[in-house]
Amino acid sequence: MKNVKEAAITKLEERGVTINDIATIVYNIQGSYQNITVDDCKEMVLSIISKRETLYTILTGIAIDEIAEKGLFDPEINKIITDDNSLYGLDEILALSIVNMNGSIALTNFGYLDKTKPGIIGQLDKEGKSSTKCHTFLDDIICAIAASAASRIAHQVIKK
Ligand code: MG
Repeated sequence: MKNVKEAAITKLEERGVTINDIATIVYNIQGSYQNITVDDCKEMVLSIISKRETLYTILTGIAIDEIAEKGLFDPEINKIITDDNSLYGLDEILALSIVNMNGSIALTNFGYLDKTKPGIIGQLDKEGKSSTKCHTFLDDIICAIAASAASRIAHQVIKK
């Protein structure tokens, strides 16, 4: 069995998300404030997802999306998840468990990314709403990882 970090990265890739996709978002929101490269952002994304709690959140969120995709929950709740019902909210709550470990800048970044849906976040949202794929939990998890990485970069550089 693979270790949990490898399993989470593989699962993200299977669902259409690379570390580079997330790093690009981080660079686009943080690059104008600090002298950083996409590689710096990549390194920070990998550091964010190294935390065990974050890995569990990634794997749990994707598992819920996949189970809903297969229609295996009770019909009422399955439809709410696959429809990405905006009043459901538990997708954001799960993702906030990542944000909450990374400071208040992560929280404001999270709200911003959830609203503007740049890059892969928008693609997931679109794919989830227009196909049989369900990305209800994954899009928020990507927002949370990117928001947290940007927050950590901000704090790191300010400390120098
Ligand atoms: Mg969502």
